[in-house]
Amino acid sequence: MASQEVLRRVFGYDSFRGDQQEIVDHVVAGGDALVLMPTGGGKSLCYQVPSLVREGTGVVVSPLIALMQDQVDALRDLGVRAGFLNSTQFPDERAMVEAEFLAGELDLLYLAPERLRTEQTARLLDRGKIALFAIDEAHCVSQWGHDFRPEYLALSHLHERWPDVPRVALTATATEATRAEIAERLKLQDARHFVASFDRPNIQYRIVPKNEPKKQLLELLRTEHAGDAGIVYCLSRNSVEKTAEFLTQNGVQALPYHAGLDSETRARNQSRFLREDGLVMVATIAFGMGIDKPDVRFVAHLDLPKSVEGYYQETGRAGRDGLPSTAWLAYGLQDVVQQRKMIDDSEGDLAHRRRLMAHLDAMLALCEAVECRRVQLLNYFGQPAEPCGNCDTCLNPPETWDGTIAAQKVLSTIVRLRNERRQKFGAGQIIDILLGRKTAKVIQHDHDQLKVFGIGTELNESGWRGVVRQLLAQGLLAVEGEYSTLVTTPGSDEVLFQGRQVPMRREPERAARVRATRTA
Ligand code: ADP
Ligand code: ZN
Repeated sequence: MASQEVLRRVFGYDSFRGDQQEIVDHVVAGGDALVLMPTGGGKSLCYQVPSLVREGTGVVVSPLIALMQDQVDALRDLGVRAGFLNSTQFPDERAMVEAEFLAGELDLLYLAPERLRTEQTARLLDRGKIALFAIDEAHCVSQWGHDFRPEYLALSHLHERWPDVPRVALTATATEATRAEIAERLKLQDARHFVASFDRPNIQYRIVPKNEPKKQLLELLRTEHAGDAGIVYCLSRNSVEKTAEFLTQNGVQALPYHAGLDSETRARNQSRFLREDGLVMVATIAFGMGIDKPDVRFVAHLDLPKSVEGYYQETGRAGRDGLPSTAWLAYGLQDVVQQRKMIDDSEGDLAHRRRLMAHLDAMLALCEAVECRRVQLLNYFGQPAEPCGNCDTCLNPPETWDGTIAAQKVLSTIVRLRNERRQKFGAGQIIDILLGRKTAKVIQHDHDQLKVFGIGTELNESGWRGVVRQLLAQGLLAVEGEYSTLVTTPGSDEVLFQGRQVPMRREPERAARVRATRTA
């Protein structure tokens, strides 16, 4: 069958979307492809249709073992001959799928990546006919990425062992650097790249200061999303439980999902979320990969995601049906402190911690953005964009102030301390110096003798902390090493010596807000 016919007869769709047709034609003709398409863009058809058109079985490598059964069932419902091999099966089930493959009775075979590493599986594949390899969630091969899976490294051998089989790698998140790494590690240098727009115009991005997150969330649900299905992400299992409980007590139907629940409960909650209307899933990021629920109306984050990639992927689960949806994130300074600490305490070498830090910094920059969130997000993925008119900063431009002089004060203090070669100082010492505080540590290092001592009395301690945080977020300052030493960046020099301006978001006055609520 030709690809158009497969699309219509098997999948029941009238036409391909976006780049699908081109990708399908390219792969059917035997070409390699690297496909970047946002969640919901329709990546599956890009390998499913060619698998049916080409002779042999399409071998799909996917890390989503828990979803294989569902995926295969859905395909079988369409009359596609599909099977899977992973560690959850009984030996006789596995033997049956293997026999089907060898007899040429499978159109699609889903494989867990660790299976492919075994010589046994390789020999099995050698004895059958392979139409193509599809590598789903291909960003998992990137050590730079946010979701690295060591099993994926074994996929670099596919090309050596089966040089004539076309390969298509697919992902919904990859910066240009990650894309290059995927191409290199999977030996896809000659692959054609298909990069769809990452814009999800129906998603409204909003990032708010966090003060009482659960109450803020409830307010959002009551005022804008009553009765809607949605996902609430929390960092810890404990906060998942507490938040789900809180919502339930307040009349919102909510279910918890995290890796600490037994698999039966998780499966039950997941299937209820997919099948019933208007449920809220409160989850850790263990939930959501591969979930195809079109009418998720909001995704809320109660804690800061660890990377922009993660944020994009998680928020991307909203509004797959194209209808207006909300991506809402509450973020506070405590998130930054906590996550930096987690990175410092994490195992792994310095380079690894630096990577995590760089991911976090990019996420912070998005939170602190004074311009359109969407522009910032798309630029991060290497795509130009215009202000969208449908994000919080477009709709309510944040009040900004000219932070250039404050930035110069912080940076010149750091430059002066840098000259004391052996000493390393963090934000606390810098702020004490600016405020002219004669602390023991200030006296000990003669920092009260510096020209910058006491030049920053126009702001208070929390004002300066905000300045430091925003400088970090804008890449005009960096943190280094064991003692969180503040160090300058190339951008710092532009501020100090080349007249670069530093707009800053005005911090909401916490004290003023508390007073206002009391009198109200
Ligand atoms: P992704 O894997 O990129 O997140 P999917 O492959 O799961 O996306 O597709 C998302 C949804 O869009 C699915 O419900 C799918 O059936 C639907 N879809 C994909 N391609 C088409 C098409 N050409 N016409 C209509 N619906 C499509
Ligand atoms: Zn915008």
